[in-house]
Amino acid sequence: MKKDLVIIGGGAAGLAAALSANHPDINILVIEREKALGGILNQCIHNGFGLHVFKEELTGPEYASRYMDAFLKLNIEFLLDTTVVDVKKNDDFEVTVSSFENGLFKIDAKAVILSSGCYERTRGSVIIPGERPKGIMPAGSAQRYLNIDGYLVGKRVFILGSGDIGLIMARRMTLEGAKVLGVAEIMPYSNGLTRNIVQCLHDFDIPLYLSHTVTNVKGKDRLEQITIQEVDSHFNPIEHTDKVFDVDTLLLSVGLVPDISLFDSLDFKRDLVTKSAIVNQFYEASISGLFICGNALHVHDLVDYVSIESEKAGKSAQNYILNSKKTSKNVHLIGFNENIRYIVPQLIDFDNFNDPIDLSFRVTKKMDSGVFKISQSGKVIVTKKAKHLAPAEMEKINLKVESLIDNSPITLVFEEEKS
Ligand SMILES: Cc1cc2nc3c(=O)[nH]c(=O)nc-3n(C[C@H](O)[C@H](O)[C@H](O)COP(=O)(O)OP(=O)(O)OC[C@H]3O[C@@H](n4cnc5c(N)ncnc54)[C@H](O)[C@@H]3O)c2cc1C
Repeated sequence: MKKDLVIIGGGAAGLAAALSANHPDINILVIEREKALGGILNQCIHNGFGLHVFKEELTGPEYASRYMDAFLKLNIEFLLDTTVVDVKKNDDFEVTVSSFENGLFKIDAKAVILSSGCYERTRGSVIIPGERPKGIMPAGSAQRYLNIDGYLVGKRVFILGSGDIGLIMARRMTLEGAKVLGVAEIMPYSNGLTRNIVQCLHDFDIPLYLSHTVTNVKGKDRLEQITIQEVDSHFNPIEHTDKVFDVDTLLLSVGLVPDISLFDSLDFKRDLVTKSAIVNQFYEASISGLFICGNALHVHDLVDYVSIESEKAGKSAQNYILNSKKTSKNVHLIGFNENIRYIVPQLIDFDNFNDPIDLSFRVTKKMDSGVFKISQSGKVIVTKKAKHLAPAEMEKINLKVESLIDNSPITLVFEEEKS
């Protein structure tokens, strides 16, 4: 099979990328391993989606169906229940695909967009001492069991980690009749959006134990009891701070990681913080014709930003296929100071910088207020004031070519205002 563009993953990112890459001269194939398009949105039945893109509050499935309807109208080819198992690059890409119906087969593609989302960190990725009973699972898996399959995974629940999925599941399981006894977060601040802390914990009187972690797990077959302890500034448990909870379920909301395992055999430049590829403003990795977007590129808290980013990745892939546009030699990494954790895109191709670039980034710690400054050649070219900053909330600055002084590298810093 020969295609111009293969899009791996039919979630929010893949659908938005397909819509914008669509062109009469481009032969696109979207490959999705699930039995339906829509990705993680299908299990996110709460509201809070779409405020930026549609200016209204939608549930996850409602948001997905808007993109699916638009996608289906264009008659873009797609395969469901089909998994991409390998990607190689010779002159073109060789995409190996497996499906129950068609077996194993290969597709030749001029360009590939990876929009495969992210995976949840499990018990193996964090240190939880104690026994290994049933009843300990990632919060997103529990969400899928409940919202897609109709199973409540426990009656007395504790949640480790205050990521958004854990917070949302605290409310969801309470509404379904479970007793959620608390959420423990090892950091001195929550890793979830403020609105989720308020609407999912405070509104349901669920305690949040900041600077606490689980230090023991007991249970012969099923989980019976957990112990949490306060931690010091080096995350070491403090003696005599034990709190014991009799629970049958421990949900883990301890982080998401971009899923780029498909590309393990490809040699491209990686960002050690995002754990994905380093890309330029076209969302193109260091292998030409390979574009990455959505949670496969960096973990987003808002789907609206996934869609906006992925539309740009789709347009870039379209441009690559139609015009064979190559990246120039004048490409520079964006520098940043210690208050910034990462920036995407990491690179700017200055010779091809025409359209505004959305710089997406996260800060390293909670800060009350200050100012973001972008500098070039020793001069500040863009400033943006910001308040109530937290690592959980993604920040954005739109950089226009008119702001630039020349083609030299730019640097982004955040200067905190000390009160
Ligand atoms: C629990 C939860 C709650 C959220 N709540 C909100 C909220 O309230 N508001 C908001 O705006 N945002 C929210 N988000 C964020 C937002 O929903 C996601 O960031 C966005 O949907 C991610 O889209 P994606 O396409 O990058 O990834 P996904 O939706 O994960 O899609 C990736 C797709 O790729 C497929 N795939 C992966 N590997 C392969 C392969 N090898 N072959 C074929 N297919 C493959 C997967 O099956 C999946 O369908 C939430 C996210 C989660 C997880």
